[in-house]
Amino acid sequence: MIYLDNAASTQIHDDVFESMIPYMREQYGNPSSIHRRGRYARKAVELARKQIASLVNANSSEILLTSGGTESNNMALFGATINSPHSHIITSSIEHDAILEPCRILEDAGFDVTYLPVDRFGTVDISKLESSISEKTKLVSIMYANNEVGTIEPIFEIAKICREKNILFHSDAVQAVGKISLDVKKIPIDMLSISSHKLNGPKGVGALYIRKGTLLSPVIYGGGQERGLRSGTENVAGIVGFGKACDIARETIHHNLQNMKNLRDYMVTKITSEIPHTSLNGHPENRLPNNAHMTFLGVNGEDLIIKLDEYDIHASTGSACSVHTQKASHVLKSMGFSHEQITGSLRLTLGIFNDMKQVDEVVCVLKKVVAELRAVSPFREKYSFAENA
Ligand code: PLP
Repeated sequence: MIYLDNAASTQIHDDVFESMIPYMREQYGNPSSIHRRGRYARKAVELARKQIASLVNANSSEILLTSGGTESNNMALFGATINSPHSHIITSSIEHDAILEPCRILEDAGFDVTYLPVDRFGTVDISKLESSISEKTKLVSIMYANNEVGTIEPIFEIAKICREKNILFHSDAVQAVGKISLDVKKIPIDMLSISSHKLNGPKGVGALYIRKGTLLSPVIYGGGQERGLRSGTENVAGIVGFGKACDIARETIHHNLQNMKNLRDYMVTKITSEIPHTSLNGHPENRLPNNAHMTFLGVNGEDLIIKLDEYDIHASTGSACSVHTQKASHVLKSMGFSHEQITGSLRLTLGIFNDMKQVDEVVCVLKKVVAELRAVSPFREKYSFAENA
């Protein structure tokens, strides 16, 4: 099996799994209980909070534990705006649905939302950001790195603009944290969303970094956990695993970043040189080290995925979530891609467990299946695939 869908989710690290087991067996206390089992669980949660904070160089008191990236994004958007009815929010047209859907709900509730355009590499237009800001603008939310094409956005510049104008700035950093170094002390950012299962941790747990002094309203009410911002008994085992995953990511990030980048570049070069009419999408340099989003003209990306699956190779066309809606990628549309380019796209995302031997095998299988699909493609004549492939 070769797994190249690490943007959708990652394999849990063995040490992460081991760290969680005691909290599902003997250490099942509620962290709010005052007896020893409760105190033991509380200690584990607070240690994990420290480990999560360390990965982005935050203070542990600035980490709010959530059920994942989706909840962190909802918390940031609703929590920051709920007390400012009819205010203005700026986001981008290429955000994940976990930002776009809350924005639509806020629009229905009377908020004004601006969706910034992107260029053909998927980079947000900063001049449009500046010209969109008005005295009603309360919040800007721009993703750190795109989940489909891997483009890293100019977050520092955006954060600086927002700070100068005294506007809250949130970034959905679900795809970036653990892949690239990120330091909230060096970026004037107010909130940042993180998800555990994207960095070899368990699913159903995440965090929202909230800079000290940032005012946020709760969106989940109840027992008052997480400083009253997010009630509900903590997912102790999940949080412990998330903390451990962050610890491992922090220790290995430089090594992994270089390894993944080398492997990705090797894969992209091999694909584009050995398979005609293929190209890499997204920004050529400012991109996540593990992302290779590619177009294979004249091929249907979904057919390609099914063919690859027959060889036990797991890839994707883009966001796993858009599979539910069967919509063409809003990201590629915003980047100005033609229908043909969108249809022929495939996302290969590497993880810490992939190696060169696997990449060689994937390219070999890709060559074969792309040729097979092109041989029956209605575009066959247009690109003379039969001779080249
Ligand atoms: N934001 C981005 C950019 C993502 O890629 C994802 C997951 O694919 C999410 C948010 C949602 O995160 P979670 O699955 O932890 O809810």
